[in-house]
Amino acid sequence: MEAVECKSFEHQIEDFFDDQLSDEELASFLHHTETCPECREELTIRLLIRMGLMRLEDGRNFHLGHEYDRMIGAAKLKLARRMRLKRMAGLSIGAVILALVAVVVIAMFVLIL
Ligand SMILES: [Zn+2]
Repeated sequence: MEAVECKSFEHQIEDFFDDQLSDEELASFLHHTETCPECREELTIRLLIRMGLMRLEDGRNFHLGHEYDRMIGAAKLKLARRMRLKRMAGLSIGAVILALVAVVVIAMFVLIL
């Protein structure tokens, strides 16, 4: 059991529920759920408490395993989407810089000739 990672994982659980983690934090958080059974259990229990309180209010039943998978799946999707957006933003900035360089080079040629 990796104590330091587990400590920060535990601290991040509330932020995870509230969607307050950065992309990097979320990525390592999700990775930790897959590699550390103790923390996965801790997260499951926290989810149970959270869902249990919510569902008590509206009186419906829920399946903890399904809720857990749904939550982790949704977080992974969200992370993948954000990473893709970031990559696209990076690409378009690269394209803009390339276009600017091309314009400058062309302008220099035009001036020289
Ligand atoms: Zn852990």
